[in-house]
Amino acid sequence: MCGIVGYVGRSEAAPILLDGLRRLEYRGYDSAGVAIVDGDRVETRKCAGRIADLGKLMTAEPPAGTYGISHTRWATHGKPTDQNAHPHFDQSGKLALVHNGVIENYQALREDLQREGEHNFTSDTDTEVLAHLIGKHFEASGSNGNANAKSRLVTAVRTALQQVIGTYGIALVHKDIPDFIVGARRGSPLVLGVGKEENFLASDVSAIVAYTRDAVYLNDFDIVAVEREKFEISSLAGEGGHYQVSKVEFTDEDIKKGDYPHYMLKEIYEQPGSVRDAMRGRLSAEECTAKLGGLEMTTAELRAVDRIVLTGCGTALHAGRIGEYIIEQLAGLPVEIEFSSEFRHRNTPMTGDTLVFAISQSGETADTLGALRESRRKGYRTLGICNNVASTIARESDGGVYMHAGPEIGVAATKSFTSQVTIMSLIGLLFGRMRHLSTSEGSEVIDALEALPAQIEETLKLTDHVKEIAKKYARSPGVLFFGRQFNYPVALEGALKLKEITYIFAEGHPSAELKHGIIALVRPEVPCVFIAPDDAVFSKNLNNMEQVKARKGPIIAVTSGGCAKRLEGIADDVITVPSAPDFVMPVLSVIPLQLLAYHMAVELGLDVDKPRNLAKSVTVE
Ligand code: GLU
Repeated sequence: MCGIVGYVGRSEAAPILLDGLRRLEYRGYDSAGVAIVDGDRVETRKCAGRIADLGKLMTAEPPAGTYGISHTRWATHGKPTDQNAHPHFDQSGKLALVHNGVIENYQALREDLQREGEHNFTSDTDTEVLAHLIGKHFEASGSNGNANAKSRLVTAVRTALQQVIGTYGIALVHKDIPDFIVGARRGSPLVLGVGKEENFLASDVSAIVAYTRDAVYLNDFDIVAVEREKFEISSLAGEGGHYQVSKVEFTDEDIKKGDYPHYMLKEIYEQPGSVRDAMRGRLSAEECTAKLGGLEMTTAELRAVDRIVLTGCGTALHAGRIGEYIIEQLAGLPVEIEFSSEFRHRNTPMTGDTLVFAISQSGETADTLGALRESRRKGYRTLGICNNVASTIARESDGGVYMHAGPEIGVAATKSFTSQVTIMSLIGLLFGRMRHLSTSEGSEVIDALEALPAQIEETLKLTDHVKEIAKKYARSPGVLFFGRQFNYPVALEGALKLKEITYIFAEGHPSAELKHGIIALVRPEVPCVFIAPDDAVFSKNLNNMEQVKARKGPIIAVTSGGCAKRLEGIADDVITVPSAPDFVMPVLSVIPLQLLAYHMAVELGLDVDKPRNLAKSVTVE
């Protein structure tokens, strides 16, 4: 993870870098730092803690200068301390570097450097080793009088990166080379923002969209030399790079919190719109099917698919688990769901007609990207389901479906989940209509999907009721979540949301598993949340609630339709969402759980948008 911002232009760099870091804080918030060059001084401010802490340091002693680099860290090597905060320097103290990723062979490189000459390391990070390595090559090239300092620095970066095993998105400055930044990427995102007499580097366009909407999404193995009025992209192998300047599709306004106290709440409330946008232009009432042009597959190819594998991590994986139920029900196709981290390292047996979907909001999730690459390497058609259209997964897949959910900043994913589940229904409908689903069944699916945005609006009105419940249980030592069928993965997602932002132990299980061990955890202090809408398994869920009740466990039930009545005397709290067919119910039933986690975290006074130890967009393995 980590966020990087670089600037070279005519304005003071400090406020631009700090503002950019604030927008990238979702990527990591263990420590933060800047290096800004002012004449012959590299002004560095860095500290463990949040961007706000760095802000205080910078206000106390403002660094001047019109070019520099900055970083917000999610530690992989070395504790989150002041020393380990980026930027890191080379041995000369003139070259400052920020890095997102992992240098896997940093130990060996470090030993080699120490053997070759004097190298004093002041941190435990892998990043500092890279700074020294680049610095070493730069210094060594000093005797080569023909090349100017800029191209010498680019060459030093190239030579060092050729020795590196691992992943990186980097930005660096050198005190002796004014108005010049070098960036490079492999496995970690990096985008170049093209402005007027100023240029930017950032891990994510949201950091720079307030200044420019013209962006070049760098590719793996690109090295970019950035100056005020120009930039030059070359490859790691030393060839000229091909690039395209694209318009960023959202504005600075889209990534502001507005009147909401937290991004997470804003994004929960955006779900009527984001779910609508996931379906926009993709439903055909005439043919009673879904149109997913982005799959880039002919009708014959779609018809030949005999199995689907869905892969993702965390929330995306849970959406995929619901996809398994949806696609199997609507299309009758065998579907398998795999953790990306497992899939990429094992040999899942597949046929040539297996279709793989890699699901990732950011499109940068390292494990999912690894799974996608592995799947393509073996020759399977691999499609992406991403929100970030310029992401690596979007670019490297054979096609896919964009979520169009707008930027998601809250670390705990909410609207991306409901968009992904909606897309699962579109996929189920498309494949179903090519197989056994009749026109009238197809049109029922469309009706159910089209009703969703208004039903989500309705569900959001439950927030005050959920808030009361949250207050009651916020200090519980643990919470158990149960559901059956389509709502079993919703139980997993409800537990994940709660763990992520309240740090309360939580588990999700299929309701029937209760008696196979979990019931031992039931006691008056541990509430059990049952997601039990009005469906074919409601009475089975009711039995399980009785079992909890008999052991004095408090019950919170999320139900629908007329079932609320049947819960009287059994559930302590009942949350009733609108009635809907089972394959769309998860989009509604998850909303009270998102709100429950949110209000419990607020009740506990926790930092909802920046939960402990987490970061959004997990670009490390
Ligand atoms: N490996 C670097 C560190 O621990 C960067 C971490 C990251 O990108 O998450 O400082």
